[in-house]
Amino acid sequence: MTSPVADTALPLTQLSEDETLLQQSVREFARAQIRPLVREMDEHAKFPKDLLTKLFDLGVMGIEIPEAHGGAGGRFFHAVLVVEELSRVDPSVGVLVDVQNTLVINALVRWANAEQKAKFLPGLASKQVGAYALSEASSGSDAFALQTRAKQSGDGYVIQGRKLWITNANEADVFIVFATVNPEAGYKGITAFLVERGMKGFTIGKKEDKLGIRASSTCELIFEDCQVPAANVLGDVGKGYKVAIETLNEGRIGIAAQMLGLAQGALDHTIAYTKERKQFGKTIAEFQGVQFQLARAATEIEAARLLTYNAARLRDLGRPFLTEAAMCKIFASEVAERTASLAVNLFGGNGFVKEYPVEKLYRDAKIGQIYEGTSNLQLQTIAKNLL
Ligand SMILES: Cc1cc2nc3c(=O)[nH]c(=O)nc-3n(C[C@H](O)[C@H](O)[C@H](O)COP(=O)(O)OP(=O)(O)OC[C@H]3O[C@@H](n4cnc5c(N)ncnc54)[C@H](O)[C@@H]3O)c2cc1C
Repeated sequence: MTSPVADTALPLTQLSEDETLLQQSVREFARAQIRPLVREMDEHAKFPKDLLTKLFDLGVMGIEIPEAHGGAGGRFFHAVLVVEELSRVDPSVGVLVDVQNTLVINALVRWANAEQKAKFLPGLASKQVGAYALSEASSGSDAFALQTRAKQSGDGYVIQGRKLWITNANEADVFIVFATVNPEAGYKGITAFLVERGMKGFTIGKKEDKLGIRASSTCELIFEDCQVPAANVLGDVGKGYKVAIETLNEGRIGIAAQMLGLAQGALDHTIAYTKERKQFGKTIAEFQGVQFQLARAATEIEAARLLTYNAARLRDLGRPFLTEAAMCKIFASEVAERTASLAVNLFGGNGFVKEYPVEKLYRDAKIGQIYEGTSNLQLQTIAKNLL
């Protein structure tokens, strides 16, 4: 008989040696290289070029890109750990790295042909940022009602239309753009294209002035007779809906990791502050009322972490993870909002001003319930599995 211990599966939060090393190096990087910039990046809504270069040097911009193409040859779970650690210090940096890895690179590794992999992956691993363009002004939750049109012309396609809310648009060189080749075919006309910065007829439109994650760029994309060669179709023509659905299912786990990191960051700041701040002759952490609030937040964060790690590990094992991805995203985003709100409360007046870090995290938390499928859409996915 095997011993009961040998027969027990490992705890979800137990990290392997390479996972621990990665987590520690990103934690140290975030503390030393990002923390000093957070306030300025938020205030000016700018992502410094320098920081981008450092993220490439750190090796976190091509986590799942095979080593043969210049990437880290890692797993999806590695990306989750990286996004969590970066977001603990700045969720704007977290989302830039998240979109690069869990949407753009993920889609390319899965759907690109050998020529496309050879053309795009080395650049994405070393210096190029990617963006993922599905949403439009009239199609958000109902994403497949998109109107951007791709008409066949000669040996390629001409794209006409506009995309809205595109993360990383300011920094990106490679854009995965969803357009329909046949509006009458409904979702079966949707096709994914690899559009490159500088292609004729493609421009970046207005940049949004946002409530939170202000250093992450969010822009409109404009396509006016933009000519894209047939070689830049990602996956099969008319199968773009599959590319979108399957990539976003995984992307959601990345957003959960972003929100988990944010919540942990807010709790870290709050623990430090409550141990310093004195009222009634004691630190406020000495009041049981405060201790219970911190204990509840820590419990919720641990639950969010378990949901998120479980979904990511299921994905890496090739097991079904759709419901788990929706659950971790909705839960972690709600925990982030609650924890950041508690942080503001426990900082008192200092929670309400920009001089202290939690005001920003409170603003940043809101986006988790909106992008990559709103909370209602996550509930729809979970309910579908129940009924
Ligand atoms: C900062 C930011 C970054 C983004 N980055 C990207 C990006 O990189 N790429 C990209 O393609 N998109 C991106 N988006 C777009 C984002 O994914 C959409 O905003 C989101 O999917 C919601 O779409 P919508 O804004 O049109 O809201 P709507 O779909 O109009 O939803 C409005 C409300 O109606 C509810 N609702 C809608 N349908 C239903 C239903 N069937 N049942 C119940 N409730 C429903 C929603 O839950 C929501 O509360 C980004 C958005 C923001 C704000």
